[in-house]
Amino acid sequence: MTQGPIRADFDQYMIPTYAPAAFIPVKGKGSVITDQQGKEYIDFAGGIAVNGLGHGNEKLKQALTEQADALWHLGNGYTNEPVLKLAKQLVESTFADKVFFCNSGAEANEAALKLARKYAHDKHGANKNEIVAFSNSFHGRTLFTVSAGGQPKYSQDFAPLPGGIHHTEFNDIEAAKALINANTCAVIVEPIQGEGGVVPAQVAFLQALRELCDQHDALLIFDEVQTGVGRTGHLYAYMHYGVVPDLLSTAKALGGGFPIGAVLTTNKFASTLSVGTHGTTYGGNPLAAAVANAVLDQINQTAFLQGVDERHTLFITKLNEINEKFALFKDIRGLGLLIGCELIDTHSGQAKVISNLAAEQGLIFLIAGPNVIRFAPALNIPIKDIETGLSRFTAALDIYLKKE
Ligand SMILES: *Cc1c(COP(=O)(O)O)cnc(C)c1O
Repeated sequence: MTQGPIRADFDQYMIPTYAPAAFIPVKGKGSVITDQQGKEYIDFAGGIAVNGLGHGNEKLKQALTEQADALWHLGNGYTNEPVLKLAKQLVESTFADKVFFCNSGAEANEAALKLARKYAHDKHGANKNEIVAFSNSFHGRTLFTVSAGGQPKYSQDFAPLPGGIHHTEFNDIEAAKALINANTCAVIVEPIQGEGGVVPAQVAFLQALRELCDQHDALLIFDEVQTGVGRTGHLYAYMHYGVVPDLLSTAKALGGGFPIGAVLTTNKFASTLSVGTHGTTYGGNPLAAAVANAVLDQINQTAFLQGVDERHTLFITKLNEINEKFALFKDIRGLGLLIGCELIDTHSGQAKVISNLAAEQGLIFLIAGPNVIRFAPALNIPIKDIETGLSRFTAALDIYLKKE
């Protein structure tokens, strides 16, 4: 009998861009995953804020298999029923009039930035090309989006980088005022910086960006790749903030685990991307669109979104109790089911160590930089799984402190 794949095969056959866990998950149901050895883990990672409906959601399985029986792919020379339904559903649920589909968050931001450049180019000429972005932001890994991102360690090795991108401090209104001017074509911002440490924008900051963009005819882009599709207890985080962007990028949870991304915008800006000016082979693929329709059908419901808020309250209450015991966190923050726990200075850099100990206890979660533990579980995670997960978290912290 030949042996099945093992973890060592990763090091032997894969380009080493990742350092995956020592175990290999083979099954998931709801918010529990099982590895090759049959060990179970509570999933507070949600596939990096992707599996909004957990693993093995019956309605997603049904949507995918029904579409698999009907039509897989044709390319954008033909439209298809699922993509039309999805576009309509997104338009009717948001500020947007029009949608462009792609396959990932990076591609959604790439399209948004290209649209903003072209809009300014068409209307004002070539000098209005500057993009303002923020320190510690994350917008994806294409060369344009990684350059817009505010973590130079991700972009510097790929120089020369696209020009005309300027960074300033997140949540600093005066700094933004100093940088945004007549040559600015776009401002790109995450309503909550996800990878950068689960740092929510202040309402006044987003309002100020909105005003500055209006003043200078620059496009305000909200990168909602992580905050979108119910994550904050609203369909999109802009609804929580009451600040409406010109362009919104969405991906991650939109496909619930099936790759899809999209840019949402109004009629005013949509016409910039006229026939032939941008495109993708897979974008708007019927399989992806059929699944995303089934995702929105379930998440975009008042009762479902209220459930996200209830779970948020439970998480925050219990995390505060845990912190009363261990005093390891200087801040516990976030919206909905995007929650960050920032380690106190004497434990800085230890988030990964704690996450490895938690995995031994049967709990997986994310980190956001070296100092922040990040929870982004399924939006419908059962209450008992939250309780079990947090008691495993407590056990892991106990072991961590005893090892000190
Ligand atoms: C994950 C993420 C991206 C990149 O999405 P990909 O699908 O990995 O390309 C962009 N922006 C934000 C805010 C993200 O969290």
